[in-house]
Amino acid sequence: MTERFPARMHDVTDETRAIVDLVLEYSRGRLLAEDTPLDKPLPPSELRRLAGRTIDADGIGARKAIGVFEHILAPSCISTDDPRYLSFIPSAPSKAAAAFDLVVSASALYGGSWLEGAGAVHAENEVLRWLADEFGLPAGAGGVFVQGGTLGNLSALVAARETARARGIRPDRWRVVCSAEAHSSIASAARVMDVEVVAVPVADDGMLRGEAVSAALAEHGESVFAVVATAGSTNFGIVDDIASVSAVTREHSVWLHVDGAYGLAAMLSPIARHRFAGVENADSVIVDPHKWLFAPFDACALIYRDPELGRRAHTQHAEYLDTLTETSDWSPSDYAVHLTRRPRGLPLWFSLATYGTDVYRDAITRSIELAERIAAEIERRPELTLVRRPQLGVVVFERVGWERSDYARWSSDLLERQHAFVTPSSHTGRTNARFAILNPRTTYDDLTGILDTMA
Ligand SMILES: *Cc1c(COP(=O)(O)O)cnc(C)c1O
Repeated sequence: MTERFPARMHDVTDETRAIVDLVLEYSRGRLLAEDTPLDKPLPPSELRRLAGRTIDADGIGARKAIGVFEHILAPSCISTDDPRYLSFIPSAPSKAAAAFDLVVSASALYGGSWLEGAGAVHAENEVLRWLADEFGLPAGAGGVFVQGGTLGNLSALVAARETARARGIRPDRWRVVCSAEAHSSIASAARVMDVEVVAVPVADDGMLRGEAVSAALAEHGESVFAVVATAGSTNFGIVDDIASVSAVTREHSVWLHVDGAYGLAAMLSPIARHRFAGVENADSVIVDPHKWLFAPFDACALIYRDPELGRRAHTQHAEYLDTLTETSDWSPSDYAVHLTRRPRGLPLWFSLATYGTDVYRDAITRSIELAERIAAEIERRPELTLVRRPQLGVVVFERVGWERSDYARWSSDLLERQHAFVTPSSHTGRTNARFAILNPRTTYDDLTGILDTMA
């Protein structure tokens, strides 16, 4: 048996070259397009009808498949990098980062272990080191890029609980303290971990402060294994008073986790940096590069003050992994709830290396300034009410006299007309409209144009 099975899918042949050319050509077109439409979803039945059957025993071929993608599937996916995509938290990958994502895929890189991916892990760690320095974390800090903030929060909280356990604490029920405005992923992590969330009410300004945390710790004692401060809430972009929270967690020796998935990137901006005082005291932090650090989906930077605590909580042991775990090498798999991983920090690394860090600071500053400007404009318009003064890039406002159904109709009409993607949100039971501004290509005129549709 010396003859090799013809490896049509893997050998380099004329067919292979044609497929690669097709894909690169499409990617080049999309990356360099200046008029990508916003697009909108189609119902399942419609997609089934239009796309037809694409998977059968013989294949439909690359040309036909990419045609289905280009003309049917892609137009049914909203372009999250559109400057008038202002819902949820948008995504605006830099061109260098988005392009380099192709390189990561093309290179068959494994980012789980030092043994297999040393070069990639080295570059990812340089990015994590830079972020840790920006956040004021000590020289020993380190971590890993995981899939998203949800997994980052879960991994940090698991490490926090393991650390409390290792100190001999054995409560009947473990608890995590956070603000009532914390992200839903904290509750999700708590469900997975089977622990209780103590959601502390916040003042009118939406900020969690040390006093409230102090009261929660007094009530629940040692059963609290972690306190979560939010550095930029998703709904409002509000940053908790991390300095006063961290004074309390230090006094009680409780783990402080800072969820900065959306907002911590703003610490790079000189006009917002002061809001994050106290982050330097965190035991763990997360920030999502796929949000305000202009990297493609999906990447969350998880950084531990003492990575050894993350490693103890997460390293998987098995006979077939002994080669990896019986060394002191830095293996990213050991620092979160995962094993196999792509080195998803590399697109950010390449982009930072390409452009330098100053343009990041400028781009973030610009969005914060734009949010302030449009908030002032909203206050000038009699039919609109600003719900809260923005701290970062999220602007929340109401249209006087509108009910939930009015917002819903307005929002779907905007998308139907391909004008913008702005979904309604709500606060204390009242529906509102919300701009999440982070795309450097979003202009003041884009925003006033949308406000005009509410007049
Ligand atoms: C987006 C977000 C998360 C969740 O991150 P994913 O990457 O979507 O999993 C967690 N916390 C905050 C504050 C967020 O804004």
